[in-house]
Amino acid sequence: MRLYGGIEAGGTKFLCAIGTGPDDIQAEIRFPTTEPDETLNHAVDFFRQFMIKTRQRLDGIGIGSFGPLELNPGSANFGKITSTPKSGWAYTDLRHKIEQETATPVTIDTDANAAALGEGFWGAAVDLRDYLYLTIGTGIGGGLVVQGKPYHGLIHPEMGHIRIPHDREEDPFDGICPYHGDCFEGLASGTAMQARTGQSGELLPAYHPAWEIEASYIALALASLVCSVSPQRILLGGGVMQQDHLFPMIRLKVQQLLNGYVQVPAITENIQHYIVPPKLGQRAGVLGAIALAKQTFSGSLNR
Ligand code: ZN
Repeated sequence: MRLYGGIEAGGTKFLCAIGTGPDDIQAEIRFPTTEPDETLNHAVDFFRQFMIKTRQRLDGIGIGSFGPLELNPGSANFGKITSTPKSGWAYTDLRHKIEQETATPVTIDTDANAAALGEGFWGAAVDLRDYLYLTIGTGIGGGLVVQGKPYHGLIHPEMGHIRIPHDREEDPFDGICPYHGDCFEGLASGTAMQARTGQSGELLPAYHPAWEIEASYIALALASLVCSVSPQRILLGGGVMQQDHLFPMIRLKVQQLLNGYVQVPAITENIQHYIVPPKLGQRAGVLGAIALAKQTFSGSLNR
């Protein structure tokens, strides 16, 4: 049995795990994201100690990281975090450092692409080849899987920063994105909800009008994504989507916005199976990173 490592590299915490899938996690660790050297040394120690203790080698390590990332293997910056506003982390060479210091091959992708892939291996998209995963939390990230593989294109999708209609009479809030103000993330991330209402979303009751606004923005983004990439299913995860009552609101608004134009039963009749929560829960990110390693280093595209 091949054995893989996974790193969920987040802006506030790192999760590392070793295993073959959700039913077989042999070791895991979680620690806060501090400065790059200290954080990456912590991860390297975890993998090294496991290999020494168990006398096993890993077949590969996958990293699902916050970004933006350089994912073009032809670039001198391949595997680096690029223009992040996170202090000290711009141009950190994640992939190279972990690969050198664990003597294990390493692959890297965005946190959202990794989580999307994990859901395809073991979660809410096991039967699908072309689907979308959006994480709506502190920020908003989108992962797109096409023909069973994470899609990159020019760099990688940045669905959190698409522009959506913003009616300033209805919602005078300017938005919080440092680059765009009122892009999707600027208007609808957990950080935006907190800035708009003065309270964390977890503390807002289900009848608070902020949820109606939130569902509208998410539905506007999804309607655009349905029309532009035609995913077979859309998974919505992240802290904000822990609010179950958002799902029926979003589904209805997406149907209203598409207005019968995309005529498929998946949307017109069975939308409860089309816009769904992910299934891998708290481990979605790190399992996605393991899925990434598995897809890259198992020598086969099979799940
Ligand atoms: Zn933005």
